[in-house]
Amino acid sequence: MSKGISGGCKCGAVRYRGELSDISSFRCYCRDCQQLTGTGHSEMFPLVAETFQLEGPSREYQMAGGSGQPTWSSFCSTCGSPLTRRSERMEHCLYVHASSLDEPEKHKPSRILYADAAQPWDKPNLDE
Ligand SMILES: [Zn+2]
Ligand SMILES: [Zn+2]
Repeated sequence: MSKGISGGCKCGAVRYRGELSDISSFRCYCRDCQQLTGTGHSEMFPLVAETFQLEGPSREYQMAGGSGQPTWSSFCSTCGSPLTRRSERMEHCLYVHASSLDEPEKHKPSRILYADAAQPWDKPNLDE
């Protein structure tokens, strides 16, 4: 299976491509992910940072991650679709939101993060 992966935002102004990383994907229920996605959790897939190419008008928002170190969230400047997350702590990879993938049905999150922060209406369960 090819490790190449591509995606973009809702309006089509931003497109990206890169190679999937071997490190695990995740589903995260932390408050940051709730606020950035507009729902109960994020579904994130890792790409090898040096293969990642993004074209189009995007912006990055810097915040403090769970570890207190800087974390960046990028989104389309036009439609606001969330695109990537990266942090200083893991500079060899970055994560893309499952919703932005061209073929999201081909991928599955492999672990859960911050289950304790899950909302009562969004139970942390990978089997659903
Ligand atoms: Zn857009
Ligand atoms: Zn999170």
